[in-house]
Parts: sequence; C-alpha cells; structure tokens
Amino acid sequence: MKSKSIKSDFPVADTESERMMKMHAEFVMPTYGRFPLVFSHGKGTTLWDHEGNSYLDMGGGIAVNCLGHAHPELLQAVADQSARLGHISNLYYHEGQGLLAYEIVSRIAHGKVFFCNSGAEANDGLYKLARKWGAKDGRFEILTTHNSFHGRTLAGIAATGQEKVKTGFAPLPPGFRHVAFNDLEAMRSAISPATVAILIEGIQGEGGIVPASPDYLIGLRALCHEHNLLMMMDGIQCGHYRTGHFQSFQTFLDEETLKQGFMPDAISMAKSLGGGFPMGAFWACAQVADTLSPGSHGTTYGGGPLACHVALKILEIIDRDQLGQNAMARGHQLIQGLRQLQASFPDIIRDVRGTGLMLGLVLEETSPALNHEGKSPALTLVNHLHENGMLTIPAGQSVVRFLPALNITPETVDLALEKLEASLTLLKR
Ligand SMILES: *Cc1c(COP(=O)(O)O)cnc(C)c1O
Repeated sequence: MKSKSIKSDFPVADTESERMMKMHAEFVMPTYGRFPLVFSHGKGTTLWDHEGNSYLDMGGGIAVNCLGHAHPELLQAVADQSARLGHISNLYYHEGQGLLAYEIVSRIAHGKVFFCNSGAEANDGLYKLARKWGAKDGRFEILTTHNSFHGRTLAGIAATGQEKVKTGFAPLPPGFRHVAFNDLEAMRSAISPATVAILIEGIQGEGGIVPASPDYLIGLRALCHEHNLLMMMDGIQCGHYRTGHFQSFQTFLDEETLKQGFMPDAISMAKSLGGGFPMGAFWACAQVADTLSPGSHGTTYGGGPLACHVALKILEIIDRDQLGQNAMARGHQLIQGLRQLQASFPDIIRDVRGTGLMLGLVLEETSPALNHEGKSPALTLVNHLHENGMLTIPAGQSVVRFLPALNITPETVDLALEKLEASLTLLKR
C-alpha cells in the first residue's frame, strides 16, 4: 500500500490556512467552535499565522503559556532532558519528580503531591482522594459551585456547575451538588450527612473571572473544620503565580490570616505548571496525603522526567525573574488601562474583574455595538480584536479574558490596550 506524504496537496484550497481548516472539517471531531486562525509559530507574546500575519497573544493558550512562546531556556530544558531521559513509567524513580514535589510543597504547606497530565485528571484525583478519605464513615458527596468549571471527563462534568457541559451525557457519576458561589450560607445549608468535601476555584475562570471573596474563603475553611470536610481548591487556571503568588488564596488573604494557618486541604494544578508541556498535579495536606495508598491511583505518564524537568525550569525562571511580582505589576497596569477604557466606553464595558494577569472585561450584554453581528457580545469583541491582531479568550456570553504570559513587558501591555481601544472605537461607530 502506498502511503501519502503528510505534505499532501489534499484538500485543495487557496491558502495553507484554508487547507488546514478543511483538513479539520474532514478528519477532526467537531468538538470545538474554533476561530478561523491557523498558527504556524510563536515567540514571546507574539504568534504568527501561516500567511505571516502576527498576533499579540493576550490569551496565553488559556493561561498555559506562562513564559510565552518558544522561551529559549525551556527549549533547552526540553532538549537536554529528552537527550538524557524522556520516559521511564512510574514503576521506577527518577530525579525530577521528587524535586518538583518538594518545590510545590514548599510553596504551599507540608503535604504530598501526585502528578498527572491535565487539569481534569488532577481534579479527578481530588474526587478520589475525598471519596477514599470519606469511605471509612460512608461519606462521598462533593459540593461545588454554580458556574464552576472542573474539566471534561465524566466526573469533571458532574463536578462542573454548568448545565451546558452535562447535556447528553447522562447518567453522570453521582455524588456532586452545586450551590451559589461566594455564598457561605448556601454552602452551609447544602451540607448533608454524606458530604465529604467542598471544591471551589479561587477565581472562577470559565465562569467569567469571578474571584472568591476573602470572607468566603475564611468562612469555608471554618465550615470545613466544623463538619470535618476537606476544603479543596481548583487552582488550575488561577494558580501558578497568575495573581502574584503561587496560589490565589495567598494573594487574597492578608498576612495575619495566612500566618494563623489558613490552608486548604487539597489543591489541583495544571495549565501554567507545564507552560505548554501537558501536565497536572494535586497537592494534599499532610493529614490526608497518604490516603491514596499503593495501587489506589496511578497514571503511566504522570510526573515523567521530561514534564518534571520542564516544570522545575519554569519555577526556577519564575523565582529568578520575579515573575510573580511582574504578574502583579503588569496586572495593575492592565487593569488601570482597562478601567480607563471602561470610563471612555461606558455603554460597551460594564466592569473589569480579576487580579494580576487573570482579568476579565465584563461587557454590556445589550450594547448595540456588540449585538449587530448575530454573535454573543464576547465573541463579537474577540473577533474584532483578531482583526486588529490580538488574541483574547471569551468566557460565557459577555466576558473577555486576559491571561497573558507572566513575563509580559510594560510595552506589550500598552500595545494590548492600544489595540483594544482601536477595536472599541471601531465597534462604537
Ligand atoms: C482548564 C481548567 C480545567 C481543566 O483542565 P484540562 O487540562 O483542560 O483538563 C479544570 N479546572 C479549571 C479551573 C480550569 O480552568
């Protein structure tokens, strides 16, 4: 049988981008509503498409590319570790996994880490941890919040507090219930004798950049102590220095509260953890860290030499270049600029939410400027920004997210604000 070369001229199209999109239409499952952009390469906060057009990447691959594209030291780390030791399975030890676990533990608190390959998988580990821990007294139920997002596996969509991800997939794994976010009393009254854990995001990402209030976090902690529940936080999007500190609660809570020992019992991570290398992890506090005993959980790839070496290099660079501080400073610059644009375009922008480099522009849902193209307000603005050479990420109908690289420069933030202003000016006409 003759095999076709990968660079075939099928399907026929005018441009390389069009050919790629046709290829998708033919052979790739239609699970994503993709934008008609086909990228070929990137550098820092810039991406280029196949026709050579450049785009300022303010979406950061949905909070993944924390060091931007093609960071020279990450390239070197991948090359070096690939040449030394790429994969061995979890039947054996290697240097990186223990070192990375130590780095993560030392940024949170005494406890242990499990490594996996994605966010949904990290959260799945949290559900298993909670169930195993509660099994001794017959508890299994996990409470999550409305508008939360916890991943696309069956348990992930059961945990996610959004109907749209569940439709058509019944029956879902039982044992998840959702209550209003930032509503301590709703959580309190939802607790049943079967409840074993609460899971929340520090900042709801897919839900439209909605931060948990400090009082809510402190209240949940007390509630979990009172009812012997695990307080679990999904730090997949809001973690890894995006708000300045390793985890978002370390940014939200004051010194005093943190000194008094506020700490969740378990935290999931992914996205920026691998900076583009697929990777997930969850940390559990010392009291529950040995719950998942030998044989009770596992993965073939998780915490492999290559992934761990990349994640270690990322943490080293974040520490050395003080990228947590940069995320705060650049986030401040960006939010100031966004607020100024809100003042200039009050009938388009309703609010600006978020912290550090996890910011959301909340659009006026009824604004005529955003409602004449038969698309949601968020998609309308995102598309217009594409025409101006900038990438952002929609969340729901009316929020546009900024999740850029943590090493973004002041000049790039200014450029992003200029592009946004230009698009808003065009839209308003
Ligand atoms: C992205 C995300 C997930 C899912 O991560 P995947 O790597 O896509 O499985 C889970 N929770 C939150 C908060 C996320 O932002």
